[in-house]
Amino acid sequence: MKTATEYIDSLRRRNLDLWIDGERVDNPVDHHMIRPSIESVAMTYRLAHLDETVRLATAHSELTGTRVNRFTHLFASPDDLVDKVSLQRILGQATGTCFQRCVGMDALNALFIATWEAGPEKHERFVKWLTEVQVSDEMLCGAMTDAKGHRRKRAAEQPDAFLRIVERRADGIVVRGAKLHQTGGANAHQILVLPGGTYREGEEDFALAAAVRADAPGVTMLLGRQPSDKRRGSPDAGNFTFGGQEVVVWFEDVFIPTEHVFLDGDVTAAATVLTAFAGFHRSSYGGCKPGNFDVLTGAVAQLAEDCGVSRHAAVRDKLIEMTHLTETIHGLGLAASHKSTQHVSGVWQVDPLLANVCKQNVTRLPYEITRIAEDLAGGLLATMPGLGSFDHPKLGAIMNNITGGKRRAKLMRLVEYMTYGSGAVPLRIECMHGAGSPQAQRIVIERTADWTGRMASARKLAGLE
Ligand code: SF4
Ligand code: FE
Repeated sequence: MKTATEYIDSLRRRNLDLWIDGERVDNPVDHHMIRPSIESVAMTYRLAHLDETVRLATAHSELTGTRVNRFTHLFASPDDLVDKVSLQRILGQATGTCFQRCVGMDALNALFIATWEAGPEKHERFVKWLTEVQVSDEMLCGAMTDAKGHRRKRAAEQPDAFLRIVERRADGIVVRGAKLHQTGGANAHQILVLPGGTYREGEEDFALAAAVRADAPGVTMLLGRQPSDKRRGSPDAGNFTFGGQEVVVWFEDVFIPTEHVFLDGDVTAAATVLTAFAGFHRSSYGGCKPGNFDVLTGAVAQLAEDCGVSRHAAVRDKLIEMTHLTETIHGLGLAASHKSTQHVSGVWQVDPLLANVCKQNVTRLPYEITRIAEDLAGGLLATMPGLGSFDHPKLGAIMNNITGGKRRAKLMRLVEYMTYGSGAVPLRIECMHGAGSPQAQRIVIERTADWTGRMASARKLAGLE
């Protein structure tokens, strides 16, 4: 298993075609807007080598016969799914943001199931590739969402809005199009391309799953901008070490050799990827987000203590509410994992109803949690001058006077980072749209809930049967 240092060094050997605001980035690893997001991913490697976390951060693989990093591991038991959510909470606490590696983990498990359904040839091809990934311990970006264009038109009517196969050769395929919202794309070794929707007969070119090197010829990445992201590396960063990352990945006639093509035209198996991934990733949010909220709750609790109001009943009640909402989300992530069932391929799948109820809450409760944090932090959250002024001979005294000192000012910046700075991307908008927008969960809840059983219980107790 790679160490954190080996992971970061290995990123330097890629020849990434990455752009920020029209400028090509020569050295992403040391770029002040990117490095914090690399540090977040590196934490997934670091925990695999620490005594306190090695049990959660690694697992025994039947494929390699060794322990592997959990982020390359197949869910081989309900405990694996519970451990995943527990590890995500620890990582959420350690980084205070998105550590980007779960999409690849959830995607490889979904693809194990889907390729099993697609038949032995595709499945063996996938398992061979996965075994190599477990040995090399590479970071995978799971690439699902297409641009989608006009929502009432099918993919075949507007092919440019979807990643698709444009040519089939004897030794592989050529793909063209974009994938959006790619968490950690510029920090990955490989992109695991997944189907972004459900397709019908005649739309086989879109029903595609494959692995592509992040620096393969024809792959271009555009870094997504986040609020205050230029502050990264400065005194006003808020979160000093860590950050998240989303990129757009553009595939310009990228060749993928057959051994890395896992689904090609199988619309049924492509639909399986979608539902399996959705379940896994919607319960993942029951781990990472509570970990982030622990940090936010801790920041405002510390501010309250430093200001001398921590025993005030109203303050206590607000901190209790933040905690209650946080544990509601975590409880659902754990429950979906505990109630998992085994797919015939061997992989365990979360309870779909609870996983979707988990994510549905994630589209709501974080807004209340951040609202309370902003309430507790006070107005200085939005009006505080730059922390660089603390070191100025004249302005330093003013800064100390208005903030109560650098310690409180730094905590305030952390709250700002998480509520509406660059950390608000994982804490607000990603909570809303990541792993599917709210309506996507309501559709699954509608389809999964046992309406017949519910009505039968009611009829029986009402004396109708
Ligand atoms: Fe992992 Fe959470 Fe980031 Fe998704 S949002 S990649 S589950 S940390
Ligand atoms: Fe996400």
